[in-house]
Amino acid sequence: MSDLTRRSILKLGSALIAGGFSPLRVSAQNATSGKTFGVLGRLDYSKAKATPTICFACTNHCGVIGWVQDGLVRKIEGNPLDPNTEGNLCSKAQGMISYTYYPERILYPLRRVGKRGEGKWKRITWEEAYTELAEKMRPLRENGNPEEFVFHYGRDKTKGYTKHFTNAFGTPHRLNRRSICSSNRRAPLMSFYGRDFEWETQDLSNTKYVINWGGNPYEAYQGGLFMAHRLQSARVDHGAKLVTFEVRPSATASKSDEFYTVMPGTDGAVAFAMIHTILKEGLEDKKFWNRWANLSLDKLRKSVENYTPEWAEKKSGVPAADIRRIAIEFAKAAPACCTMSNRGSAKHYNGMQSDRAIRTLDVLVGNVGKPGGYCLSSLRGWSGKYGQEGLPNLKLPEPKASDPRPWGIGEGFNEIAFKKLPKKVQDRVNNFPDKWRKKYFGELATPSEYPLAWHWYQMRVGQLVYPYIKQGRQKVSVYMSFTLGAAFGYPEANAAREVLKDEKLIPFHVAIDIGYGEQTALADMILPEATSLERWDYHSTNCYGLVPYTGVRQPLVDPQGESKPIQVILRELAHKIGGGMEKHFTYKDDESLYKDWYKELPISWEEFKRRGIWQEKNRAKDYELYERPLTESELAGTNFNAGKLADGALVEKEGKAVGIVKDGKAVRGFPTPNRV
Ligand code: SF4
Repeated sequence: MSDLTRRSILKLGSALIAGGFSPLRVSAQNATSGKTFGVLGRLDYSKAKATPTICFACTNHCGVIGWVQDGLVRKIEGNPLDPNTEGNLCSKAQGMISYTYYPERILYPLRRVGKRGEGKWKRITWEEAYTELAEKMRPLRENGNPEEFVFHYGRDKTKGYTKHFTNAFGTPHRLNRRSICSSNRRAPLMSFYGRDFEWETQDLSNTKYVINWGGNPYEAYQGGLFMAHRLQSARVDHGAKLVTFEVRPSATASKSDEFYTVMPGTDGAVAFAMIHTILKEGLEDKKFWNRWANLSLDKLRKSVENYTPEWAEKKSGVPAADIRRIAIEFAKAAPACCTMSNRGSAKHYNGMQSDRAIRTLDVLVGNVGKPGGYCLSSLRGWSGKYGQEGLPNLKLPEPKASDPRPWGIGEGFNEIAFKKLPKKVQDRVNNFPDKWRKKYFGELATPSEYPLAWHWYQMRVGQLVYPYIKQGRQKVSVYMSFTLGAAFGYPEANAAREVLKDEKLIPFHVAIDIGYGEQTALADMILPEATSLERWDYHSTNCYGLVPYTGVRQPLVDPQGESKPIQVILRELAHKIGGGMEKHFTYKDDESLYKDWYKELPISWEEFKRRGIWQEKNRAKDYELYERPLTESELAGTNFNAGKLADGALVEKEGKAVGIVKDGKAVRGFPTPNRV
């Protein structure tokens, strides 16, 4: 059993103070020139200033307005200009105030002085921290072993800034936790639509029927707040029906029109039986399927012929009569019907295939991209991305370093980086079947025995990092964790702690975080990060009103103590490491960086900061993006202009499919290799 529990961390905290080391528990009064935060006091609107920003108390990133009085953030409320929330917010948003003024927040760089994990620290200066870190990291880069620097993050919302740093350093090891998060649901989206489209973006405002597979939008969900109020409005305003399959009576299940308990991991069986029923009843949308699916209806019918509702009842416990009835109701509501499956059905060993069955239901009834149906969201990154034609090009304005990862053999392959890999790894990659496109992001991120993890970047098996380090697959010299709680939150937290404690396996661990926890307790150095109320961030996510928008996270107050935004920490560290890294970090302050990041927006920077949100209002909703004709500029240089193409032929530019011919017209299709 672990010897590092929450209780022991608290005990270590008191020992640290009693031991006379510079205390971890820095009083808020010391940190901010005499201000105390115990009681924030009443907000006086006549004295307070309102500034829009983006919430980061969960991953929904709602547009909010922060009220600051006497240098303290006192209240968070919704920004009515946010097209997703329309000014609503949840109670968690006030938590940003709590964690910003949390009395045990780390406010100064700390250096371990006892044994690792013993909880003894001393306060150091940023200069001391950067100097020591740069002295450890610089030789790795200079001696051609940048991969020995491993960056491992929990929740990174810098929209590419941390990757900018790891690319400039030259390490392929930029690891995350996605395999214990969303991989199983992203992979079906990738295989169906060519992109995972971030989150699901059902057109809930206009839907008539929703089948919810283990999702819980009334309590916690990606897009939960926006989805919950749209779903609820649809139910109240025009009688939309919500049917939930769940393993427990969740908040959403208990408030659904119908709720069925399923045996864990059997959602896919129920979905297959629904496909079987819809086909048997002849309720499929033949026109849509034949136009946009690359499997014939006959083959689909044959593959599900044994998956009857009675078969599914035995597997799932859901009565066959209900499966049959719900399938028919769903198909008859099409196209104003949709599935919802984030992440209940997917988080099982067979979760990917369950979600593929669920995705098939949407395609079968032809609700994809239709009003009230299963819509494809707008993507971040904008210009040049699928469906984003005509939108501003928003990208990090720094000079970029090339990606050091030898990914995608055959396309974008970095041969120099590949040749540096250990021979046995090169052999494994070379023996990999061509049809899966060989991808390699480093042995810790994309271990060679997991072929599908190579195929889809999003499926990296990052949580296996610690066992792999223990196996000696990759020498680690400097390990940087950023807002990561692996030592507590990962399923194999015991293994994580064991490796993090072993100074032979991880000789140096620097943790960047706002608080002290199981992960930071096992670091050698802790760098204090600014909170979401104290920093800038680029923000763009999918719009549930199906009209793209963007927002900006801007600081409401200065960082507490000596904490710094992650962007500043990485920029200053890059300059300290030198050797050319500094050329990629040219901005002196964050506001200038973000001002240039958004420079293509058609409103001024001051106006954007004042509003916090910008949306292209004069734009058609993102319905049926796949039917949109390619523009003249997109058609320039394609084979479509060179001569007549038959229906179904790919429209190609420089060897890449950019569209497909339908009814003699070049349309966008789906962003898959064959556009269907
Ligand atoms: S759902 Fe709540 S906590 Fe999450 S981003 Fe929105 S307001 Fe913040």
